[in-house]
Amino acid sequence: MKITILGSGTAVPSLKRNSAGVLIQSDGFNYLIDFGYGNLSQLLNLGLTYHDIDRIFFTHNHPDHMCDLIIFLFSSRYHLDPRTKDLTIIGGPGFNEFFLKVTNAFGHWLVPTTYKIDIVEMDEETKEWDQIKVQTLKTKHIEMSRGYRFVDSKGNSTAISGDTDYSENMIKLGKNANLMILECSFPDEMKSGGHLTPTLAGKMGKESSCKKLCLTHFYPPCDLESVRKACQQEFSGELFLAEDLMAFHL
Ligand SMILES: [Zn+2]
Ligand SMILES: [Zn+2]
Repeated sequence: MKITILGSGTAVPSLKRNSAGVLIQSDGFNYLIDFGYGNLSQLLNLGLTYHDIDRIFFTHNHPDHMCDLIIFLFSSRYHLDPRTKDLTIIGGPGFNEFFLKVTNAFGHWLVPTTYKIDIVEMDEETKEWDQIKVQTLKTKHIEMSRGYRFVDSKGNSTAISGDTDYSENMIKLGKNANLMILECSFPDEMKSGGHLTPTLAGKMGKESSCKKLCLTHFYPPCDLESVRKACQQEFSGELFLAEDLMAFHL
Protein backbone atom coordinates (compact mmCIF):
# COMPACT_ATOMS: atom_id res chain seq x y z
CA MET A 1 0.00 0.00 0.00
CA LYS A 2 1.40 3.38 -0.99
CA ILE A 3 -0.12 6.51 0.53
CA THR A 4 0.56 9.99 -0.88
CA ILE A 5 -0.60 13.27 0.61
CA LEU A 6 -2.06 15.25 -2.30
CA GLY A 7 -2.97 18.25 -0.18
CA SER A 8 -1.87 19.07 3.36
CA GLY A 9 -3.79 22.34 3.44
CA THR A 10 -7.22 23.68 4.19
CA ALA A 11 -9.82 26.16 2.99
CA VAL A 12 -7.15 28.88 2.85
CA PRO A 13 -5.52 29.02 -0.61
CA SER A 14 -1.80 28.36 -0.41
CA LEU A 15 0.99 27.85 -2.95
CA LYS A 16 2.64 25.38 -0.60
CA ARG A 17 -0.35 23.39 0.60
CA ASN A 18 -3.20 22.27 -1.62
CA SER A 19 -6.56 21.54 0.01
CA ALA A 20 -7.22 18.17 1.60
CA GLY A 21 -6.72 14.91 -0.30
CA VAL A 22 -4.91 11.57 0.01
CA LEU A 23 -4.11 8.99 -2.66
CA ILE A 24 -3.95 5.30 -1.71
CA GLN A 25 -2.47 2.93 -4.27
CA SER A 26 -2.96 -0.76 -3.55
CA ASP A 27 -2.91 -3.90 -5.71
CA GLY A 28 -3.01 -1.80 -8.89
CA PHE A 29 -6.00 0.33 -7.83
CA ASN A 30 -6.03 4.08 -7.20
CA TYR A 31 -8.24 5.44 -4.43
CA LEU A 32 -8.76 9.05 -3.48
CA ILE A 33 -9.76 10.01 0.03
CA ASP A 34 -11.13 13.55 -0.31
CA PHE A 35 -10.54 15.65 -3.39
CA GLY A 36 -9.85 19.25 -2.44
CA TYR A 37 -8.61 22.16 -4.49
CA GLY A 38 -5.36 21.42 -6.34
CA ASN A 39 -5.56 17.64 -5.99
CA LEU A 40 -6.08 17.07 -9.73
CA SER A 41 -2.82 18.89 -10.52
CA GLN A 42 -1.05 16.87 -7.85
CA LEU A 43 -2.29 13.67 -9.52
CA LEU A 44 -0.76 14.92 -12.79
CA ASN A 45 2.54 15.37 -10.95
CA LEU A 46 2.29 11.64 -10.12
CA GLY A 47 1.42 10.72 -13.70
CA LEU A 48 -2.26 10.06 -12.97
CA THR A 49 -5.28 11.53 -14.79
CA TYR A 50 -9.06 11.36 -14.53
CA HIS A 51 -8.83 7.98 -16.30
CA ASP A 52 -6.84 6.35 -13.52
CA ILE A 53 -8.92 6.84 -10.38
CA ASP A 54 -10.99 3.79 -9.39
CA ARG A 55 -12.87 4.99 -6.32
CA ILE A 56 -13.28 8.26 -4.45
CA PHE A 57 -14.04 8.30 -0.71
CA PHE A 58 -15.23 11.47 0.99
CA THR A 59 -14.83 12.17 4.71
CA HIS A 60 -17.40 14.98 4.34
CA ASN A 61 -18.63 17.52 1.83
CA HIS A 62 -16.90 20.78 2.79
CA PRO A 63 -15.49 22.49 -0.32
CA ASP A 64 -11.83 22.13 0.75
CA HIS A 65 -12.39 18.34 0.69
CA MET A 66 -14.40 17.92 -2.50
CA CYS A 67 -14.25 20.82 -4.97
CA ASP A 68 -11.88 19.15 -7.49
CA LEU A 69 -14.58 16.50 -8.01
CA ILE A 70 -16.46 19.06 -10.14
CA ILE A 71 -13.51 19.56 -12.51
CA PHE A 72 -12.83 15.81 -12.45
CA LEU A 73 -16.37 15.00 -13.63
CA PHE A 74 -16.32 17.75 -16.25
CA SER A 75 -12.94 16.71 -17.67
CA SER A 76 -14.02 13.05 -17.67
CA ARG A 77 -16.48 14.08 -20.42
CA TYR A 78 -13.74 15.61 -22.64
CA HIS A 79 -14.99 14.40 -26.01
CA LEU A 80 -11.54 13.70 -27.50
CA ASP A 81 -10.51 11.56 -24.54
CA PRO A 82 -13.50 10.62 -22.37
CA ARG A 83 -13.28 8.48 -19.28
CA THR A 84 -14.63 4.99 -19.91
CA LYS A 85 -14.00 3.25 -16.57
CA ASP A 86 -16.95 3.14 -14.14
CA LEU A 87 -16.50 5.13 -10.94
CA THR A 88 -17.61 4.49 -7.35
CA ILE A 89 -17.99 7.47 -5.05
CA ILE A 90 -18.37 6.79 -1.33
CA GLY A 91 -19.58 9.27 1.30
CA GLY A 92 -21.48 9.47 4.57
CA PRO A 93 -25.27 9.54 4.95
CA GLY A 94 -26.74 12.36 2.84
CA PHE A 95 -23.93 12.31 0.30
CA ASN A 96 -26.16 11.07 -2.52
CA GLU A 97 -28.55 14.01 -2.12
CA PHE A 98 -25.65 16.45 -1.95
CA PHE A 99 -24.09 14.92 -5.09
CA LEU A 100 -27.35 15.24 -7.02
CA LYS A 101 -27.70 18.90 -6.01
CA VAL A 102 -24.15 19.71 -7.07
CA THR A 103 -24.41 17.94 -10.40
CA ASN A 104 -27.91 19.35 -11.12
CA ALA A 105 -26.53 22.86 -10.60
CA PHE A 106 -24.36 22.31 -13.70
CA GLY A 107 -27.17 20.94 -15.88
CA HIS A 108 -25.91 17.99 -17.90
CA TRP A 109 -22.26 19.06 -17.92
CA LEU A 110 -21.08 16.75 -15.16
CA VAL A 111 -23.29 13.80 -16.09
CA PRO A 112 -21.25 10.92 -17.52
CA THR A 113 -22.14 9.53 -20.96
CA THR A 114 -19.22 7.14 -21.48
CA TYR A 115 -19.05 5.55 -18.02
CA LYS A 116 -21.25 5.01 -14.94
CA ILE A 117 -21.12 6.50 -11.45
CA ASP A 118 -22.23 4.48 -8.45
CA ILE A 119 -22.79 6.48 -5.26
CA VAL A 120 -22.46 4.47 -2.06
CA GLU A 121 -23.34 5.91 1.34
CA MET A 122 -21.52 4.33 4.27
CA ASP A 123 -22.67 5.01 7.82
CA GLU A 124 -20.80 2.91 10.36
CA GLU A 125 -19.89 -0.28 8.56
CA THR A 126 -17.27 -2.30 6.76
CA LYS A 127 -17.22 -3.02 3.03
CA GLU A 128 -14.74 -4.60 0.67
CA TRP A 129 -13.79 -3.44 -2.81
CA ASP A 130 -11.14 -4.99 -5.02
CA GLN A 131 -8.85 -6.35 -2.30
CA ILE A 132 -9.18 -3.53 0.17
CA LYS A 133 -11.32 -3.57 3.32
CA VAL A 134 -12.89 -0.23 4.24
CA GLN A 135 -14.34 0.59 7.65
CA THR A 136 -16.17 3.82 8.48
CA LEU A 137 -17.24 5.39 11.77
CA LYS A 138 -18.81 8.74 12.57
CA THR A 139 -16.35 11.47 13.55
CA LYS A 140 -16.87 14.83 15.30
CA HIS A 141 -17.08 17.58 12.71
CA ILE A 142 -20.38 17.75 10.81
CA GLU A 143 -23.28 15.30 10.63
CA MET A 144 -22.00 13.63 7.45
CA SER A 145 -18.40 13.26 8.66
CA ARG A 146 -16.98 9.75 8.63
CA GLY A 147 -13.47 8.55 9.37
CA TYR A 148 -11.96 5.65 7.44
CA ARG A 149 -9.74 2.66 8.02
CA PHE A 150 -8.31 0.88 4.95
CA VAL A 151 -6.75 -2.57 5.23
CA ASP A 152 -5.01 -4.11 2.21
CA SER A 153 -4.64 -7.79 1.27
CA LYS A 154 -1.38 -8.04 3.28
CA GLY A 155 -2.98 -6.63 6.43
CA ASN A 156 -1.42 -3.15 6.21
CA SER A 157 -3.71 -0.51 7.63
CA THR A 158 -4.18 3.25 7.24
CA ALA A 159 -6.71 5.37 9.14
CA ILE A 160 -7.75 8.79 7.85
CA SER A 161 -9.76 11.29 9.88
CA GLY A 162 -10.74 14.05 7.50
CA ASP A 163 -11.81 16.95 9.72
CA THR A 164 -12.65 16.00 13.29
CA ASP A 165 -12.51 17.04 16.90
CA TYR A 166 -11.28 14.56 19.54
CA SER A 167 -13.05 11.33 18.60
CA GLU A 168 -13.20 7.94 20.32
CA ASN A 169 -14.37 6.46 17.03
CA MET A 170 -11.32 7.75 15.22
CA ILE A 171 -9.12 6.18 17.90
CA LYS A 172 -10.89 2.87 17.17
CA LEU A 173 -10.26 3.26 13.44
CA GLY A 174 -6.59 3.97 14.13
CA LYS A 175 -6.13 1.06 16.58
CA ASN A 176 -2.63 -0.37 15.96
CA ALA A 177 -2.75 1.05 12.41
CA ASN A 178 0.49 1.15 10.46
CA LEU A 179 -0.35 4.77 9.69
CA MET A 180 -2.91 7.19 11.07
CA ILE A 181 -3.46 10.50 9.27
CA LEU A 182 -5.10 13.06 11.55
CA GLU A 183 -6.09 16.62 10.90
CA CYS A 184 -4.35 19.29 12.97
CA SER A 185 -6.08 22.54 12.09
CA PHE A 186 -4.97 24.99 14.73
CA PRO A 187 -2.36 25.41 17.47
CA ASP A 188 -3.39 24.48 21.04
CA GLU A 189 -4.03 28.09 22.05
CA MET A 190 -6.41 28.62 19.08
CA LYS A 191 -8.58 25.50 19.51
CA SER A 192 -11.63 25.63 17.26
CA GLY A 193 -14.73 23.43 17.69
CA GLY A 194 -14.83 20.42 15.35
CA HIS A 195 -11.06 20.45 14.79
CA LEU A 196 -7.94 19.05 16.45
CA THR A 197 -4.88 20.70 17.94
CA PRO A 198 -1.39 19.14 18.08
CA THR A 199 -1.90 18.03 21.71
CA LEU A 200 -5.28 16.41 21.02
CA ALA A 201 -3.98 14.72 17.87
CA GLY A 202 -1.00 13.42 19.87
CA LYS A 203 -3.36 12.10 22.54
CA MET A 204 -5.41 10.28 19.89
CA GLY A 205 -2.22 8.88 18.37
CA LYS A 206 -1.14 7.58 21.78
CA GLU A 207 -4.56 6.11 22.62
CA SER A 208 -4.80 4.34 19.27
CA SER A 209 -1.24 2.91 19.51
CA CYS A 210 -0.81 3.63 15.81
CA LYS A 211 2.72 2.95 14.55
CA LYS A 212 3.12 6.10 12.46
CA LEU A 213 1.18 9.32 12.98
CA CYS A 214 0.94 11.93 10.24
CA LEU A 215 -0.61 15.33 10.96
CA THR A 216 -2.14 17.31 8.10
CA HIS A 217 -4.74 20.04 7.33
CA PHE A 218 -2.64 22.88 8.77
CA TYR A 219 -4.23 26.33 8.85
CA PRO A 220 -1.67 29.15 8.48
CA PRO A 221 -1.22 29.88 12.22
CA CYS A 222 0.24 26.36 12.70
CA ASP A 223 3.94 26.75 13.35
CA LEU A 224 5.35 23.33 12.56
CA GLU A 225 8.13 23.44 15.13
CA SER A 226 5.69 24.03 17.99
CA VAL A 227 3.15 21.60 16.47
CA ARG A 228 5.79 18.86 16.60
CA LYS A 229 6.80 19.69 20.17
CA ALA A 230 3.21 19.79 21.48
CA CYS A 231 2.24 16.55 19.71
CA GLN A 232 5.33 14.73 20.98
CA GLN A 233 4.37 15.56 24.56
CA GLU A 234 1.62 12.95 24.04
CA PHE A 235 2.72 10.72 21.18
CA SER A 236 6.09 8.99 21.36
CA GLY A 237 5.90 6.99 18.10
CA GLU A 238 7.05 8.05 14.63
CA LEU A 239 5.57 11.47 13.88
CA PHE A 240 5.28 13.10 10.45
CA LEU A 241 4.06 16.59 9.61
CA ALA A 242 2.51 16.36 6.15
CA GLU A 243 3.89 18.21 3.13
CA ASP A 244 2.22 17.93 -0.26
CA LEU A 245 3.37 14.79 -2.10
CA MET A 246 4.85 13.22 1.05
CA ALA A 247 4.53 9.44 0.56
CA PHE A 248 4.40 6.38 2.80
CA HIS A 249 5.12 2.80 1.69
CA LEU A 250 3.48 0.26 3.97
ZN1 LIG B 1 -11.25 20.90 6.04
ZN1 LIG C 1 -14.66 20.44 7.19
